[in-house]
Amino acid sequence: MKILVLNAGSSSVKFQLFDMTHSSVLAAGLVEKIGENDSVFTYKRFDGDVNLEKKDPIQDHESGLTFVAETLLHPEIGAVESAEEIMAVGHRVVHGGENFSKPTIITAEILNQLEKLSFLAPLHNPANILGIEIATRVFPEAKQVAVFDTAFHQTIPDFAYRFSIPKKFYEEHGLRVYGFHGTSHSYVSREAASFLEKDLSRFNAITIHLGNGCSMAAIQNGKSVDVSMGLTPVGGLMMGTRSGDIDPGLLIFLGEHLQMSMQEIDQLLNKESGLKGLTGDNDLRNILAKYEKKDTEAVLAVSMYTYRIKKFIGAYTAALGRLDAVIFTAGVGENSGLIRSLVCQNLEILGIDLDQEKNRLASKSTRLISSTSSQVGVLVVPTNEELEIASQTKRVIES
Ligand code: ADP
Repeated sequence: MKILVLNAGSSSVKFQLFDMTHSSVLAAGLVEKIGENDSVFTYKRFDGDVNLEKKDPIQDHESGLTFVAETLLHPEIGAVESAEEIMAVGHRVVHGGENFSKPTIITAEILNQLEKLSFLAPLHNPANILGIEIATRVFPEAKQVAVFDTAFHQTIPDFAYRFSIPKKFYEEHGLRVYGFHGTSHSYVSREAASFLEKDLSRFNAITIHLGNGCSMAAIQNGKSVDVSMGLTPVGGLMMGTRSGDIDPGLLIFLGEHLQMSMQEIDQLLNKESGLKGLTGDNDLRNILAKYEKKDTEAVLAVSMYTYRIKKFIGAYTAALGRLDAVIFTAGVGENSGLIRSLVCQNLEILGIDLDQEKNRLASKSTRLISSTSSQVGVLVVPTNEELEIASQTKRVIES
């Protein structure tokens, strides 16, 4: 069964074609800088070593996706012989609000509901919806399925998701914690339970997704019960360019005393804060190189970044009561032994103890990096959000 996974952003479309009989990737690629003169299309077919990079203006998402379809169907470099082979297209949709706790087959009514949710994720959902609309035209035979970043966190209890502001803001406007990176938290927690040979329905873990965006989740009996991101993806941990949690009074101060507009505050907290705000650079690799040389700004940024994660580990251990595993994932979590080591330093009190040797080893596989005496297993699990979207899409069309 072939399933195409699409992640349509405001100026890019990422795609991966899976053969879900073996959970293998047949082809993958990316259309970048849509609407600009220097758009780039990259495509890789894994069988037969096809690699393509094309720099040509791609006017809009419609042309981009049509080009993806033509490439996938191309007699020489394509990955399918006819469009009908693609049974379903799984779409990453960032915000599903409270309506969507499961992957959902798209109908006109569902699309209508998604449009109404766009106010919750104005930067992401409109592009996701556009991707669905175009894919429906380009792959008319395939079922279109929406897989939501927020869905996995719909099991969080009200005392964890409500904000302590008057209830009308929740009841009339849906303002609450939703949490994101759900496909990643769900995928790595399941992978870790399986690696440790534990029953997922009794598995308690803290998942730490550290990419450009960063978030943590508390997993109880296989389900999300708390998450560090909130109403929007700017809350919680310190990130590449996002501030994470700050005193809400700071926003009032920025507006009242510095006369910053809402747009400027939005730009500040989403694009100019986090690692970038503190060091001028949002790539942690560069910051770690400076950290090794004891650069003061880099030392402060790394200390703040890891301290925040450590505090969430403490909070979530208390929330869960019993902890089987701490799981690191995504670009930073999978690759930086130093960050993992700084996060886990002095956490023996919580039963967390790293094996420094195992932690240092680079690998692309799921692995245990805790010491034999550690009560809690510490793991690195490479995330695979596309495979998770394909698996969820397959489950929903088969059911
Ligand atoms: P995205 O959220 O865009 O999917 P990724 O999961 O790819 O991001 O993570 C990107 C981040 O991972 C960047 O900050 C990058 O610096 C960091 N990263 C990648 N490799 C390493 C490494 N070896 N050491 C430290 N950080 C790394």
